Formats: sequence, structure tokens, C-alpha cells
Amino acid sequence: MTDYVKPKKHLGQHFLRDKSIAKSIVDALNPSTQNLIEIGAGTGILTQFIIEKDISNFKIIEIDTESVNYLLKHFENMNQHIIEADFLRFDLETIFPDHFSIVGNFPYNISNQILFKAFDYRNQITEIVGMFQKEVAERIASKPGNKKYGILSVLLQAFYDIDYLFTVNEDVFDPPPKVKSGVIKLVRNKVIQLDCNESLFKTVVKTAFNQRRKTVGNALKSMGAKDWPEEHKHLLNKRAEQLAVEDFVLLTNLAAETIQQD
Ligand code: SAH
Repeated sequence: MTDYVKPKKHLGQHFLRDKSIAKSIVDALNPSTQNLIEIGAGTGILTQFIIEKDISNFKIIEIDTESVNYLLKHFENMNQHIIEADFLRFDLETIFPDHFSIVGNFPYNISNQILFKAFDYRNQITEIVGMFQKEVAERIASKPGNKKYGILSVLLQAFYDIDYLFTVNEDVFDPPPKVKSGVIKLVRNKVIQLDCNESLFKTVVKTAFNQRRKTVGNALKSMGAKDWPEEHKHLLNKRAEQLAVEDFVLLTNLAAETIQQD
């Protein structure tokens, strides 16, 4: 049975049926893309447009054996592109030791894990174009002061310029998801290294948002940060969702100093 893939809920399978939307997603990639990973190709609606682009190094990471068999049957020379694996567990450097881009109509049940992994690979991933559930896509693209602004917004916006491209309705999928979808594009910015300790930055952002009703000053006390310099007190009275990337960089440096004083 390789003519039909039965959609599996636990793999977040909602197959896109609208070719013009699929084409718009692939067309949003930088035209000079040479190294590309598609996450979760399913029955290949995006794949057919990627192949037309003649990208020199194109890999698919797909976890579902039934989808893999479908792709092998319906596309020529697929065996040189396909890797049957779990994207979250796969060591991406084994395929692309240098830079690469990512595209996909992603499995929504693991959206956040995909994005955290992308953050970890920020120095190799030059671009991400793809579809998430609308709420996640909006959150990633939202700015400080917006209720949706969260951990992944700050972490990703520190290293990527992010654009919300368009919304996609439920009825173009089989089966239709319960929510609308959003297509976003993330392009690596010029920041090579933040002006602070990057692993502490991640901890500070997470700590501040995990106690989002407290002021950041109170939230960060749990990390051992105490005697904040007077001139930065205004920052400490704010909540995480009000702070821009630069504010978190400053907070990280303050936290690094005050933690060391202990
Ligand atoms: N791109 C296709 C399929 C989208 S559904 C389309 O637009 O129609 C999401 C796809 O991701 C499915 O094919 C599913 O099998 C795959 N998938 C789910 N979890 C995955 C994982 N951890 N690693 C790789 N692929 C995964």
C-alpha cells in the first residue's frame, strides 16, 4: 500500500491539499538556497516544488515509514534525498556540517521542540520557512508588549529577522486541523554573538517568562541575583513580556555580575 498514507494523529499528520499554497511556501525560500532540509514531507506536496528548484543538496527527514514508501514510489531518485528519522533526535551536522535552511509544513504537535532545536543550531541555520499552527507562528513573530510574546519569541528574535507571511484555513488540509495555520519566515540576522553569555541569556529568558506574573527582578531572585545597580531598577520592575531582546541582554549581564558577587 503505497498509494495512500493514512493520516496519523500522533505524528501530527495533516496533509496539505492546496498546491498554490505549497508553492507559495517553497517560493518564499531564498532563491540561492543550496543546502536544504524539509522536515516531514508526508506525501510530498511541498517536495514537488522543491525538486523543481534544483537545489544541490536537498534532504528530507521524515519519521513515518508509510510516508517514506509513498515518496520513494512517487518521486524519482528519492532514495538519495530521504532520511527516515526523528528530526528531534537527528544530528543535523551529519548531513550539513556547515550552513543550511529548513522548510516544512511542520508537525504541529512538536512545533516548540522544532523551534528550540533550530535555536540550538542558530549558527548553522540561515533560513527557516514553514507552516505552524497560527498561534505559534504569531507568537514567534510578535513583539514586546504583545500578550503572545514569549520565550521562543525572544530567543529566536535575538538571532533572526522574522516575518509572518500569511494565514492558511483549516479546510485545505486532510484531515483539517482544529486551528488555523500561519506561514512564517526566519532569516538569520548579522548577530554573531550576543553581548552576554548566551547560555545564561537562555536561562534568564526562561526564568523570567516562567514566572511571567512577577516582575523580572523578583523572578530573577531565584537565580541568586540580588544587588541590582540603581540605574537599572526600572527594568527590574517590568514583566518579561515588556522586555526587548536588548533588555534581556542587559539583564543577563547584570545577573552574571550579581551572581558572581555571592
Ligand atoms: N509536508 C506534508 C506533511 C505535513 S504533516 C504536507 O504538507 O502535506 C507533518 C509531517 O511531519 C508528517 O509527514 C509526519 O509524518 C512528519 N513528522 C511528524 N513528526 C516528525 C518527526 N519527529 N520527525 C520528522 N518528521 C515528522
